[in-house]
Amino acid sequence: MVRIRSSLAALPAYVPGRKVPGTTVLASNESPYGLLPGVAARLAASAGGVSRYPDMSATGLVNALAEHHGVDPARIAVGAGSSEVCGQLLHAVVDPGDEVVFGWRSFEAYPILTTVAGGTAVRVPLQGRTLDLDAMAAAVTDRTRLVFVCNPNNPTSTAVGAEDLRRFADRVPDDVLIVVDEAYREYADPALVPDGLRLLGDRPNVVVTRTFSKAYGLAGLRVGYCVAAPAVAAQVRKTQVPFSVTALAQEAAVAALGEGREVARRAALTVAERGRMRTGLRALGYEVPASQANFVWLPLAGASADFAGHCLRGGVVVRPFPGEGVRVTVGLQRENEAFLALAASWQDRD
Ligand SMILES: *Cc1c(COP(=O)(O)O)cnc(C)c1O
Repeated sequence: MVRIRSSLAALPAYVPGRKVPGTTVLASNESPYGLLPGVAARLAASAGGVSRYPDMSATGLVNALAEHHGVDPARIAVGAGSSEVCGQLLHAVVDPGDEVVFGWRSFEAYPILTTVAGGTAVRVPLQGRTLDLDAMAAAVTDRTRLVFVCNPNNPTSTAVGAEDLRRFADRVPDDVLIVVDEAYREYADPALVPDGLRLLGDRPNVVVTRTFSKAYGLAGLRVGYCVAAPAVAAQVRKTQVPFSVTALAQEAAVAALGEGREVARRAALTVAERGRMRTGLRALGYEVPASQANFVWLPLAGASADFAGHCLRGGVVVRPFPGEGVRVTVGLQRENEAFLALAASWQDRD
């Protein structure tokens, strides 16, 4: 028998949102609007080149991102989705047994990536539906190497504000990396939710991750990045799987970055739909935390799996976290209407 690492045996596999043919899928927080207009053409034009390896340092994309954020290209590192970037960050700082702190529940990739990197996951319970930054700061020990701050938090949809985030960063020792995961930045109200890069970007131990998988509509191509201090970014580049960001992904991401106005227009549509969904759900008597992302969270506790089953039978796939709640991605208006009708009919069950 092959000997498997004991830490992996106890590790749950990532549970992706289900894809059921013929249904409406509101389970993976994807953009419902498809490819951005300029992206499809760029992909078609680049497809013939895939017999060659991509540019390993993704020069064009890194330069475009540096310009987009007004930072030195030395501060950017890319990966195959910001999930891979989170893994790269862990591999850059975690020695066997080192601790990695994050709120729980939060992004389900954090415990998996932490364990794969050889670290020990330290889950800090949320306060209500929101990250408890005071408790997270208190959970930092001399074994801690990295803290994930998912803002807004997946799956609970809430965000922490600028004052709380700055106070948290002040409390964390400067040899511990703070990773502010901003996968849903484009859907957040800038008056309520800080841009981590603007707020904390001058601190050498703060990294901000972003992705092209959500508002930029490129989940299937796998490309994300972080903005870090140059010394950190250099290590994050070393821990990338060589060539993990394909040439098509690099090209598409550059094209998508150039469509900021359309990205913002689509995000605004999603924010408006999110408001309608929340209003409709609350009118039905559901508790729905105020969302800063492209999904809503229904803390249905023990009824979560039943609710998701009811939706699935009605042709809408949502993402249950049994015993905790259900995450529902904001889709197109008619998709959201179909979901709201199911949320209403669920309440008429026996
Ligand atoms: C979706 C998501 C990501 C990014 O996923 P990739 O597709 O790997 O870029 C990162 N963090 C959180 C919290 C997410 O929900």
